[in-house]
Amino acid sequence: MLQQLDATSEWDMVIIGGGATGLGAAVDAASRGYKTLLVEQYDFAKGTSSRSTKLVHGGVRYLAQGNIKLVREALRERGRLLNNAPHLTSIQTFIIPVFSWWEKGYYAIGLYLYDLLSGSLSLGKTQVLSKKQLMARLPAINPKGLFGGILYFDGQFDDSRLSIDLAATATVHGATLVNYCRAAGFTKDGKKITGVTLVDTINNRTYQVSARSVINATGVFTDSVMQMEDAAKHDMVSPSQGIHLVVDPFFFPGTDALMIPKTDDGRVLFAVPWHNKIVLGTTDTPIETAAIEPLPLEEEIGFILKHINRYCTSQIKRSDVQSVFVGLRPLVKHKGQKKTALLSRDHTLVVSPGGMVTITGGKWTTYRKMAEDAVDNAVFIAKLPSKECITADLPIGNPRNRNGWMERLINQNPAMADLLHPQYPYIKAEVVYAVTKEMAQTVEDVLARRTRLLFLDAHAAMSTAPMVASLMAAEMGKDAEWEEEQVKVFTQLAHQYLLS
Ligand SMILES: Cc1cc2nc3c(=O)[nH]c(=O)nc-3n(C[C@H](O)[C@H](O)[C@H](O)COP(=O)(O)OP(=O)(O)OC[C@H]3O[C@@H](n4cnc5c(N)ncnc54)[C@H](O)[C@@H]3O)c2cc1C
Repeated sequence: MLQQLDATSEWDMVIIGGGATGLGAAVDAASRGYKTLLVEQYDFAKGTSSRSTKLVHGGVRYLAQGNIKLVREALRERGRLLNNAPHLTSIQTFIIPVFSWWEKGYYAIGLYLYDLLSGSLSLGKTQVLSKKQLMARLPAINPKGLFGGILYFDGQFDDSRLSIDLAATATVHGATLVNYCRAAGFTKDGKKITGVTLVDTINNRTYQVSARSVINATGVFTDSVMQMEDAAKHDMVSPSQGIHLVVDPFFFPGTDALMIPKTDDGRVLFAVPWHNKIVLGTTDTPIETAAIEPLPLEEEIGFILKHINRYCTSQIKRSDVQSVFVGLRPLVKHKGQKKTALLSRDHTLVVSPGGMVTITGGKWTTYRKMAEDAVDNAVFIAKLPSKECITADLPIGNPRNRNGWMERLINQNPAMADLLHPQYPYIKAEVVYAVTKEMAQTVEDVLARRTRLLFLDAHAAMSTAPMVASLMAAEMGKDAEWEEEQVKVFTQLAHQYLLS
């Protein structure tokens, strides 16, 4: 990738940010045939895109707000994503417990409509459950005051794995993608942006690239990139923090997810089975400044534990939490609105005086549509030859290639089939694959985003770090000092995923 960066004098499109939106734009632009470069300052999906609740959904809550257009678009994208990446997505049943007959009617009508809006891309028919049926499906539910439930269907996915497969897909179509490479400034001809200054933060090298168009897809960091063009730019994005607690399925047996549409203070709460764990979340806390490793607040932890323990019989304690991960929503500000729960979940696109297309907001589920809109606009503004978007039914990733590659490695060296940790399915070959084919540069890249061990069990991830560092060092030609440093840095980070 760095050689391609060196060898190319001008790019049709430079995309800043390697999360869902930027990676989607790279797939879109490259598959239309544009000469595409994407740079990510850390690792792909290190930001919000590895920290979602892992739902591919239309957004039941937005339906309650009457935003039919947003829900219909998201349901269409939900269907497309499940078709295009079947190896990383699945259908998940959700149950809303109800406590009165009118609640039952209200949610039943809403969720029939939700299903209806998905049209031919429906994932299954909404069902009304009696109290007995509900108790049989969600044995952990607290029966007190329960009237019954509504079961509906939505999608689920592995967010950072999807990011890595989007990166792989973009490269198959000829894009150049570089992680650990920061956009640090722009070159201009008058007002117009004509190039980007890039810093490779691993090799400490600066590149100056020419760009016919630039897309800013930097999530909660949107404003800082806009201010690189114009230091006086006002704030556009308001970060809102959401945390998730990961616990053992012992606390929440069964295959259905629990959805509480409205807690005391009007928030949505989920308990969702994921990779043989339960993800509990989330919160919606406005925060001042965006950090790449945001930390959970005590009140957020307390909120989730209190509410989940109220709805379930098993009393989850802080010490039962195996990992806590935190993400920041890039919510777009509208004048006069302060509360983040009210800010737009729809995506926003703006074009700067220098011609940069900024795209932000939205959600993972709608990343493809956001990417299409961003690329359409960049093409129009830069007067690039117009070409049709082909991503609506473009397959993402190639699981057969990946599995075949690992099988061949294991045939040559059977020890590569060994587990990284006795309780988790990840094997050594995945580490080698991550370094060789998926641009993993650090132990964190492997344990947080190529595998998901850090997000599932931070203690297990820490105990695995030395083995991962040693496998990586052998592949990358690094010395013992590098290994030691990697383990130290990863261990420090993993402590932040634990509740003390
Ligand atoms: C708690 C929570 C739960 C969510 N749950 C869901 C869900 O279940 N389903 C769903 O559909 N959506 C969900 N979302 C929304 C979804 O995760 C986000 O909309 C999406 O991930 C945003 O992607 P992005 O690419 O815009 O931003 P990011 O993923 O943040 O990517 C931006 C990237 O830009 C990089 N960057 C910044 N500055 C520079 C620079 N100067 N140079 C190079 N790179 C730079 C950053 O490092 C970062 O990686 C959730 C969000 C949160 C916070």
